[in-house]
Amino acid sequence: MTRDNDGTNGTGGGGAVMRDRPAGLAKNEKLVWNALAATTEPQKAYEILDGLKEQGVRAPMTVYRALEGLETKGHIHKLDGLNAFVLCNHEGPHAVQTFLVCEGCSTVTELEMVAVEANITPAVRAAEFDMHTARLEIKGTCVSCAEAA
Ligand SMILES: [Zn+2]
Ligand SMILES: [Zn+2]
Repeated sequence: MTRDNDGTNGTGGGGAVMRDRPAGLAKNEKLVWNALAATTEPQKAYEILDGLKEQGVRAPMTVYRALEGLETKGHIHKLDGLNAFVLCNHEGPHAVQTFLVCEGCSTVTELEMVAVEANITPAVRAAEFDMHTARLEIKGTCVSCAEAA
C-alpha cells in the first residue's frame, strides 16, 4: 500500500468551496478529504470509494477508516439522517453541530450556532451525561431552490 500519488497535486479548481486541507492527515485521509472538498453535497462512503477507484483505492475499509479518522479529528461530520459525510467548516472539533439540509438540491450548509451550544451544554452537564456529539439537521429549502420555485 505504498503509492506516491496521493492526489494532492494538480487537483483544485472545480470544487465548490476552496478550503485549506488540514495538516497531519494520513494519505488516505487526504484522498477522502479531497473528495469531500470537491462538492457541497454530502457524500456516502460508497460514493467516495467510487470516486477514488482510479486513484488506487479499492477496499471499502480504506474509506471507512479514513472517514473515521477524519471524523475523530473533527475535520468532517457524519449526517446520520443521510448516512453521508461533509467537511467541517469550523476551526477545531466541536461537539454541537448544526446543519441546514436542502430537500431540493441536497446541499448541506454547516451553521455555527453558538446559542444552541450555549443551551445544550449546561443542560447535558446538569444531567451528568458525557456528551460526545449533538447533531441537528434542519431540513428545508435553500435560497437557490426557493428562487427557482
Ligand atoms: Zn463542524
Ligand atoms: Zn436547494
